[in-house]
Amino acid sequence: MTGTTNAFEMAQRQFDHVAELLQLDPQVREILRWPMREYHFRIPVRMDDGTIRVFQGFRVQHNDARGPCKGGIRFHPAETIDTVRALATWMTWKCAVVDLPLGGGKGGVIVDPATLSEGEKERLARGYIQQIWRNIGPRQDVPAPDVGTNPQMMGWMMDEYSKLVGQYTPGVITGKPVGGGGSLGRTEATGFGVIYTVREALKHLNLEPSQCVAAIQGFGNVAQYAAVGFTEILGGKVVCVSYWDREDRTAYTVSKADGIDPRFLMSITDQYGTIDKNKARAAGYSIEDGNAWLSKEADVLIPAALEGQINADTVQHIHERVKLIAEGANGPTTPEADEAIRQRGIFLIPDFLCNAGGVTVSYFESVQNDMNFYWTKEEVLQRLDTKMTQAFHAVLDLSLKEGVFMRDAAYMVAINRVVKAMELRGWI
Ligand code: NAD
Repeated sequence: MTGTTNAFEMAQRQFDHVAELLQLDPQVREILRWPMREYHFRIPVRMDDGTIRVFQGFRVQHNDARGPCKGGIRFHPAETIDTVRALATWMTWKCAVVDLPLGGGKGGVIVDPATLSEGEKERLARGYIQQIWRNIGPRQDVPAPDVGTNPQMMGWMMDEYSKLVGQYTPGVITGKPVGGGGSLGRTEATGFGVIYTVREALKHLNLEPSQCVAAIQGFGNVAQYAAVGFTEILGGKVVCVSYWDREDRTAYTVSKADGIDPRFLMSITDQYGTIDKNKARAAGYSIEDGNAWLSKEADVLIPAALEGQINADTVQHIHERVKLIAEGANGPTTPEADEAIRQRGIFLIPDFLCNAGGVTVSYFESVQNDMNFYWTKEEVLQRLDTKMTQAFHAVLDLSLKEGVFMRDAAYMVAINRVVKAMELRGWI
């Protein structure tokens, strides 16, 4: 593969580019190019067979000028400190672009959670908190779920933290199960948030959503609700989704020319976003190779799997019909591919704006925890729609005013807000 695929290098290059556009002071750049704090720790876990396995864990706090750090914890076999750094950095921009009073953080553990029993997962989740509890908290750093972690694990983590500090502290972590301090609407939040921004972008492009076709990469939490939202909220057609098949150790695209039924596919998908391809085939779906989603004849592409998926090699396969790319995943487009997309004039909703629905409802969750009063799902989704729509238009307006690409405009809005907070606090 050619070009940059190190996620943190990508995050820094994107920042450098906008810092230049903003003529940002070199000292301010020096603060924002790197995380403020990083924690590396080992987590010993007693396995079911009595042996002890030691897992590598990370927590990175990029910047907390605007409020406590916020960001998920990823359990992934290919996790690296650079991935966590990149994701923490993007969280700073993400919280700022949707104007949440929060900073950016991220955590990770090098592990394939699918190889662990429920008991082992619980001990690993609790072990993670035992290592990091002194450095997180509702006023310091508030983790959440991400790839490979789920609400149940957040429940265990919240419980472990509450035990260690000696008081019930639901606000230490978000993405908890409903009934255990969680917010209604969190499950749908990221995918629906993607769709609210897609709706606004289609309006701007003068495209009628019900006439539009989307192709989606991934079929985990974000992709599933993006697919549901695209069909049920916008009335459009989704021609395919894709997923990583853990048994075959390869990715597949699952498609249907007259449109997939997201809820049916969800019913044959496991908790890790792996579709049962035999059941899909039996229901009339075609199973193609993992990259096929990218070359589909579609108006909208929604990469919602992992980072670096649209890169120098794959970008040339994007179909000429594509008018909009909505980045559901974090960092799905490498800088080289980004350049090619700019040149082709495809409208792009950048990741940290597009997928900010998750952190927005996470923020709503902490607000509800603080009040100990919980909103209805409709209330949560309505507030989410308002927040995402406002954020999208703030970025679009700047992009049109300054004549810059949407990613640059989103960075400009976010960086300006963080710099302003650092100024107000006397850091710079
Ligand atoms: P998930 O673990 O629920 O799902 C990931 C999906 O991607 C699975 O269906 C998996 O099979 C698929 N996948 C993995 N590798 C693939 C490949 N090479 N080709 C095709 N499919 C592949 O994760 P998620 O929570 O849906 O997160 C997806 C992305 O969105 C990540 O980049 C994550 O950081 C980002 N994100 C998630 C949230 C959230 O609230 N869940 C919020 C913001 C951003």
